[in-house]
Amino acid sequence: MEKEKPGIYFNKDNSFRVVYHQTVILAVMDSVGHEQFQKAKTPNMDKGGFTNFSPAYAGATWTIPSVVHMMTGRLPLYGGREQILPSCYWLPKRFHDWGGSTHYIAAVGIPTHIIKYCWDTFDFPDRGERYAENLINKALNIMKEFPTKRKFFYIHFEDTHSPYECKGNGGEGSTDWRIKEILKYNSRTAEIEPEYFEYLKKRQIETIEHMDKVLKPLIDMESTLMITSDHSDCFGKCHYFGHDNSRIHKLLEVPLLVRV
Ligand SMILES: [Zn+2]
Repeated sequence: MEKEKPGIYFNKDNSFRVVYHQTVILAVMDSVGHEQFQKAKTPNMDKGGFTNFSPAYAGATWTIPSVVHMMTGRLPLYGGREQILPSCYWLPKRFHDWGGSTHYIAAVGIPTHIIKYCWDTFDFPDRGERYAENLINKALNIMKEFPTKRKFFYIHFEDTHSPYECKGNGGEGSTDWRIKEILKYNSRTAEIEPEYFEYLKKRQIETIEHMDKVLKPLIDMESTLMITSDHSDCFGKCHYFGHDNSRIHKLLEVPLLVRV
């Protein structure tokens, strides 16, 4: 029988099955909302053959529960860690069952909370090594060196998170955001000037445009690739700045590009 090409195939009973490429990548740009993504110029993503499902809805309004939602499909999650048992649906386990190896590379502090179950490699680089270029290089090295043909990557980028620093706009893209100027503005107590919001929005757009360049090697390769975000950031909408576990629906609106 001829091998099926990657794609989505519908069965007679209206169920469907997905035939993946040998390399499957879920790339998550932290804190990128649908509106901000629309404003960014992303020529590589535009030409990448994606279906654009934006705005899609993240599973939670901050990182950990949103990532756990991606792994489990469960809703609602507020903390995202207590609920997980190995018997739960767990995305990397699905890829193991498919005969693939699984690789987790993340720049945001998820590993202390999330179960490290079913990852063949689990990489949480040191501060100073978390910029997007480094994460991509780690993935490319694994692709060359890991023996299995089928591979699933979860890659979580921090460059787009506040204070929106990447190598493309003068930062390292690896931010000790706790000590940055941005956080002298406490979102619950301080009024932020509208001009400052505009400045922050512009900076985040720069980081999204930078991500478009950095992701090019993944976009150009034969792969099943999904690009999305774990939640949005608010820049004054709903009288709110940033993101946390607030139940603000705007925080859920994210981009979602899928290429099977
Ligand atoms: Zn996040």
